[in-house]
Amino acid sequence: MNHHILTDTEMVDMMRKAGLRPSAQRLAVLRYVGNSHSHPDSDEIYNEILHGFPSLSRSTVYNSLHALVEAGLVRELEIDAGNRHYDLAPQPPHAHFICRGCGTIFDMPLPDGFAPVDMQGFEIDSVDVYGKGLCPACTASPTDTKLNTNIKNTTE
Ligand SMILES: [Zn+2]
Ligand SMILES: [Zn+2]
Repeated sequence: MNHHILTDTEMVDMMRKAGLRPSAQRLAVLRYVGNSHSHPDSDEIYNEILHGFPSLSRSTVYNSLHALVEAGLVRELEIDAGNRHYDLAPQPPHAHFICRGCGTIFDMPLPDGFAPVDMQGFEIDSVDVYGKGLCPACTASPTDTKLNTNIKNTTE
């Protein structure tokens, strides 16, 4: 996927247009989610932006994420059971793929013009397509199979 690096000015502008006060913490959260492309969870976001805000609390990160999701700037991914991951919302439609080896979440392209089939009487908020399996690095890595064998040996 072609990623455009958002500048702080663009992100402040996005927040203003969405009716959100562009606080320094919200900007830091949006900057990391929008420009890391790593689909981070809230722990990763907290640990990454802590450097800039030594007194930052986890609840500030949760609140900032919540406000950004509500404003439609950040999208919550429910691909990883029990652990929410975040992505920049204003992006061309794409699906996600989670690797069961390393846990990395990748962007997965959707066919051109992908759109949900119109369902009479339904109001569709969102359509999420998720892929699961192994990424190329984990497919090629012998450590992954070794790890599985070790797990098998200890449980037998
Ligand atoms: Zn992997
Ligand atoms: Zn994505």
